[in-house]
Amino acid sequence: MLQPESSLQEECLRSMEGELNSIKRFRSSGGKTLGYLCRGFPPSIAAGLGFRPVRVLQDASVESENQGGKLVRQDICPLIKVFLGGIDSGRNLFGLIDVWMGLATCDQTRRCFYALADMDNVTVHHLQLPATRSQSAAEYFSDQLRQFCCDSRDLYGFEYSAERALDYSINLWKAGNILRKATLTRQMSPIDLHWLFHLFLIGDPDGLAETLLSLLEKAEPFTPEYMIAIAGGPLALEDTWVLQAVQSKNAGVIPLHCAGLQLAPFGGLNETPVTGTIEELAGRAFRDIRCARSRPNAEMFQYINDSISDTSCDGLILKTLKFCDLWFTERERFRSSMNVPVLVLDTSYGEGEAERQRNRVDAFLETLAL
Ligand code: SF4
Repeated sequence: MLQPESSLQEECLRSMEGELNSIKRFRSSGGKTLGYLCRGFPPSIAAGLGFRPVRVLQDASVESENQGGKLVRQDICPLIKVFLGGIDSGRNLFGLIDVWMGLATCDQTRRCFYALADMDNVTVHHLQLPATRSQSAAEYFSDQLRQFCCDSRDLYGFEYSAERALDYSINLWKAGNILRKATLTRQMSPIDLHWLFHLFLIGDPDGLAETLLSLLEKAEPFTPEYMIAIAGGPLALEDTWVLQAVQSKNAGVIPLHCAGLQLAPFGGLNETPVTGTIEELAGRAFRDIRCARSRPNAEMFQYINDSISDTSCDGLILKTLKFCDLWFTERERFRSSMNVPVLVLDTSYGEGEAERQRNRVDAFLETLAL
């Protein structure tokens, strides 16, 4: 687990421990948790069924990567290895998940969820997120989620409640909007912001907006001299070395990856869901994704370029995970189509990784600071 280094981070850790305790109580009273990995899955649908949804992006360490590496072939993304290693060990949050959403987004996630389905005492629901951006692909995604709801009724006796889903969704949007506003002040320390987004990933949205507001009051002033956007694969909780490198040069971060600003509502509170139906929530999840895997993915490039302009970022770090072709194959397009200098980092959670790459980050930041 990442160690806190500021009073806001200490409070965040306490809130995260509180969330883990509430998950334990929820399970001991008969509730079921649903774990997922990709931002494309709409947690409100799981909440509408009565699950407690949790996006598990934690435990990124050499040990987890090595442990998970024994369960799949070696040329698999480190995040997938960490995920499998965490489930295999039952460590921390991984040990509190009853059902996994096997949302396949690439060959590697597909392999991961099939390996998971072979493990004892692990339940996986398979789901395809089509890469094609079309109306029929959106409808196909929605159909699969409807099927998941039918399966949950048959398997667990869960009935979908649009009212419950809507309530969850609106609370989530309120909390996300607070994080969006905090990010856009450009006055948050990169690591503080990272902790807040990770609390958002595991927190029960009911009351989360208030918790985030009270945590933000504890934020120490941070006045960056310049700003760096970060895009690419999601950053796990412990994956902070790039943020530390940026923060140590007195630069701020705009996190444009799918564990950062993409979690916050795109259209602000005016665009909160209105019905809570499966169709509405599935459609929004499909529409709002800004991922390199989308075909075409021009919207993702536009989103990153626009966000960089809107937030006056001076450079972009594209942080990919080794063997994740989704992002790495786009590196030349990033270099040629962004309006700011781009540094591409292909990373793992392995021994010495931060030290190996740190010089490149420092050199990049020095060129921007001149
Ligand atoms: S990078 Fe894309 S495929 Fe991977 S978790 Fe994020 S949204 Fe999903």
